[in-house]
Amino acid sequence: MYDANHLMTRLAGAGGRDRVFASRPGLEEMSYGTLFDGAGRIATVLAAAGLRPGDRVAAQVGKSLEAVQLYLGTVMAGGVFLPLNSAYTASEVAYFLADATPRVVVCDPGQADAIVPLAPEARVLTLAADGEGSLTDAAAGLPPMEEAVPRGANDLAAILYTSGTTGRSKGAMLSHENLASNSLVLRDLWRFTPDDVLIHALPIFHTHGLFVATNVALLSGCALHFLPHFDADAIIDALPFSTVLMGVPTFYTRLLDHPGLTREAAGNMRLFISGSAPLLVDTHEKWQARTGHRILERYGMTETNMNTSNPYEGERRPGTVGLPLPGVDLRVMDAGLEVKRGEIGVIEVRGPNVFRGYWNMPGKTAEELRPDGWFKTGDQGVVDADGYVTIVGREKDMVITGGFNVYPKEVETVIDSVPGVHESAVIGVPHPDLGEAVVAIVVADSPTVKEGDVAAALTGDLAGFKRPKRIVMCSDLPRNTMGKVQKKALRDDHAGLFES
Ligand code: AMP
Repeated sequence: MYDANHLMTRLAGAGGRDRVFASRPGLEEMSYGTLFDGAGRIATVLAAAGLRPGDRVAAQVGKSLEAVQLYLGTVMAGGVFLPLNSAYTASEVAYFLADATPRVVVCDPGQADAIVPLAPEARVLTLAADGEGSLTDAAAGLPPMEEAVPRGANDLAAILYTSGTTGRSKGAMLSHENLASNSLVLRDLWRFTPDDVLIHALPIFHTHGLFVATNVALLSGCALHFLPHFDADAIIDALPFSTVLMGVPTFYTRLLDHPGLTREAAGNMRLFISGSAPLLVDTHEKWQARTGHRILERYGMTETNMNTSNPYEGERRPGTVGLPLPGVDLRVMDAGLEVKRGEIGVIEVRGPNVFRGYWNMPGKTAEELRPDGWFKTGDQGVVDADGYVTIVGREKDMVITGGFNVYPKEVETVIDSVPGVHESAVIGVPHPDLGEAVVAIVVADSPTVKEGDVAAALTGDLAGFKRPKRIVMCSDLPRNTMGKVQKKALRDDHAGLFES
């Protein structure tokens, strides 16, 4: 069923050499031929640097097509690609490099002096966001590697560190099969063809931009409109020449603020996809009213690639993340038992998408990955009678107040429907009597909306124990680069709210 080099042979096979792989504002288009020649040259550089099959190549670089070539070149050379968030500081990078012991580290030229002492055993090469650096210099003089180094389905292709909001960040080990199987399923489910043009404005150090967007495009042989970062003007300009957008929910809320977002502007588009954080029902509805398109929401995580998706054809239900992907089993568990449909519990998934464990952390792996392949996602959710999955929050974000469980999403949904409320985040804060108290951090559309207005609007809709003990108005919610609300930061900021 699988080729000797599972991922590379699939990725390299789809686009004809002369087809456009990527266009970039103000720069030349790059063809599939140029993409893979460059990747092959980088593979030659890596092999010459002593990379052996299974060795790690760490990359903390800006977003560029050369960085995509570095990913492909690493896999071609039999290596394991380890992208690092470009926002990580030197001390954070020090931990990843010590943990992953890469053979090669590629960093921005401006960081090389700081990185070299952190990886004394590694060869350090540079790559700037404009594609210049010692990596591309070395590659320019070398022939492309002709054949990818053979790797099997279970061999690692990448390690991605999770964002690690609690404790140490963990390196999720992803195999060739994990990546290839998931991108094939998504390509077919979302009906990608060589005629598509995908607007790519996500970072490429995260599973969403690197695997979901880039691998699906490569597998279908379609073109990317490759933007260095999110830019509402640039996306609006690209819409008439594009067919698909993949984004985090903040892409959609910010685009809704743009006057250029119209039904006509989106007339050539066939699909808008959202994931990595919950999409508000309100955003879904406003988007449909403005553009005529129903955003397709899907759910996944670093350890599992994608797990569920709303259907391409059929009902896309706002507020849900859709149905399990073909080949992915999903169950909801509580106290070691599978719950009935309609009941809340922790989501577990099993399938070819599920990672091979955490790098160097056998204990953590054993805690979260069961021997029979089920992975405890840590997300709490519920499956309805038709099989649609709704995420109600992270297990660690659930609030236990006076012995009662409160699921933040339920309270947030009610608060968000109060007129004048833009969005909210519900957290648990230490409380002398209750253990934890429910606290809502609320962003209003206008400063005239006050705590009391929100509190008054909640009385009929929520049981007393679910109602926030305190409502705190603020101008915006703290989010990471993937648009996820940083609940830990909110808990830290409000930890002293009930201290006497
Ligand atoms: P990451 O590993 O950084 O991709 O984060 C994965 C986590 O993001 C999941 O475990 C979920 O908690 C959350 N997530 C991803 N997609 C969605 C979605 N569509 N709705 C709600 N939460 C999501």
